[in-house]
Amino acid sequence: MSFMKILISNDDGYLAPGIVALADALAPIAEITVVAPDSNRSGASNALTLDRPLTVQRASNGYYFVNGTPSDCVHVALTAILKEKPDLIVSGINQGQNMGDDTLYSGTVAAATEGFLFGIPAIAFSQVDKGWSCLDAAAKIARDLVERGFPELPTTYLLNVNVPNLLYGDIKGFRKTRLGKRHMSEPVIHMLDPHGRDIYWIGPPGAVKDAGDGTDFDATSKGYVSVTPLQIDLTNHVQLHEIQLDLP
Ligand code: MN
Repeated sequence: MSFMKILISNDDGYLAPGIVALADALAPIAEITVVAPDSNRSGASNALTLDRPLTVQRASNGYYFVNGTPSDCVHVALTAILKEKPDLIVSGINQGQNMGDDTLYSGTVAAATEGFLFGIPAIAFSQVDKGWSCLDAAAKIARDLVERGFPELPTTYLLNVNVPNLLYGDIKGFRKTRLGKRHMSEPVIHMLDPHGRDIYWIGPPGAVKDAGDGTDFDATSKGYVSVTPLQIDLTNHVQLHEIQLDLP
């Protein structure tokens, strides 16, 4: 078997501990290329930069960094930097969970999605809690999943993986999950800037609303790694049958 080629990206930036841990964990088992944003672009979702050009620079450790979004990074990597199509794209390890509705805003999931849209299997990895505790365990879990692979799935898949911040030996195992749900986001935080102008900070996400059986929230709260297969088709198939367009 030839050495697997893996493209690695994230949304926390190329200097983040999570991407270094992920790259270090995968380097012994794959030919890795890291292409990541030059700064923290968490919350970038699937944005592409269309109003200015992108630059690609290379750090002394070999990582490429781009003055753009996670989607920009994977897009540029696949269409300009890499000589061959990678066998897999992995994103992360993100600082903080990407579960439930968070996945829509996530740059971590978006980097994986960009690869998926190019027909490449992709996995997004996040740690449930911020602060990087037990990061080595999350990196080992990532390696376990990459080594195992998903031969039971179609050749192109998109997985969202959330790892509880536990020691490797304390992780109970893996659970396949669906996305849970949150309540509406908290309101913006209103402040005055030093000039007396109104400014607003986007507030925290809403509290968890559906953490029931089978959800990502439920699995991780019980010490399991949550693995959610994602799809991109936003069509509401029930309403597609219900909607009536016989207007006069
Ligand atoms: Mn992030």
